[in-house]
Amino acid sequence: MEKPSKFHRHTYVGKGTEGADEYGYKYTWNSAHPDLEPTQMFYPDKYQNHPYCFYCGEKPYPIQAGLRDSNIPYNKRDYSVTGYMCTCVGAAAEISYRQDLIKLKELHAQDISELRKSYVEKLNPNLEKQFEIKMKYQRKELESELKNGRNYFSFSDIEMIKI
Ligand SMILES: [Zn+2]
Repeated sequence: MEKPSKFHRHTYVGKGTEGADEYGYKYTWNSAHPDLEPTQMFYPDKYQNHPYCFYCGEKPYPIQAGLRDSNIPYNKRDYSVTGYMCTCVGAAAEISYRQDLIKLKELHAQDISELRKSYVEKLNPNLEKQFEIKMKYQRKELESELKNGRNYFSFSDIEMIKI
């Protein structure tokens, strides 16, 4: 019933043993395999306790990512599930799509970084000039405020200063 995948462990149990294949190997799902990735699930009820593969409709395999090597007590970690995955064609395509998308994004990020590098000299602001203009405007503002008789001294301002 179980289709062996690269995430299955196989052990020799002897021909004719229950669950063994024609060569005497039994395949068991390695839920702690480091390459396991959750795939899209379909939940038939609102309680979401019964996941089925979104693509093939079969029951998925549990993932126990990182649990085996953790310090969580064995009785908790062995029965804890961090996600589900299927090994069917659709689920494999989903994983491949995600990986391709990541690669494309990385590639794109490199292009953007190179584009930025090639423009950084040309997109150089004249900070000296900006400062000059800013000072000119501030001077104008001050002059007009002084002309309008504003008194700059304020007790509340100096009382705010903590000594
Ligand atoms: Zn599936």
